[in-house]
Amino acid sequence: TSFTDLGIIKPLSDACAQLNFKHPTEIQCESIPWALEGRDIIGLAQTGSGKTAAFALPILQALWEAPQGLFACVMAPTRELAFQISETFEALGALIGVRCAVIVGGMDMMSQSIALSKKPHILVCTPGRLADHLENTKGFSLRNLKYLVMDEADRLLDMDFGPKIDQILKVIPKERHTYLFSATMTTKVQKLQRASLNNPVKVEV
Ligand code: AMP
Repeated sequence: TSFTDLGIIKPLSDACAQLNFKHPTEIQCESIPWALEGRDIIGLAQTGSGKTAAFALPILQALWEAPQGLFACVMAPTRELAFQISETFEALGALIGVRCAVIVGGMDMMSQSIALSKKPHILVCTPGRLADHLENTKGFSLRNLKYLVMDEADRLLDMDFGPKIDQILKVIPKERHTYLFSATMTTKVQKLQRASLNNPVKVEV
């Protein structure tokens, strides 16, 4: 199987080749075709499985088809992971001119507000800081958001980001695509899944 076989467009499959991704990984093979059909996805996969590209490629493809600012928001449990995810989006989206911003705690609010005002395509956030900006940054909203990703959902919930995630879910469109990735399926993850995904396809590797 190649990325093209899965339905991925040339500027993205070329970027995969540049990154030396010779073949899609198992999680990519199982989730990308569903994602390109517009389905919500719950992915049970560990770090190292290639899960980041599994959600980044379909989002970048949808962005390429209908470009707009503040197109997708990815929530991650830690700053380090947020920066890694953003780097993956930038590398995979290099040939389609994607613009990303990382919005995480412990960094200057004002420079983040300026970054948000430029309407990047992809926001990669920790939930606490995103909720802060939704409350306090004038002119910033996610009312046109098309894609939401919750990465490492079990860790997000272990870190007690649940209330912040609920707060964010209230102010983003119900009409959107949602991907939830988690290494483990806990009761809390199931509850979040029921609250945020619409008839998801479950993919397990
Ligand atoms: P992840 O599970 O998203 O943290 O990815 C783990 C590592 O696998 C990262 O270093 C990716 O760059 C790499 N990777 C992702 N997809 C592929 C692929 N199809 N072929 C080779 N490496 C990949």
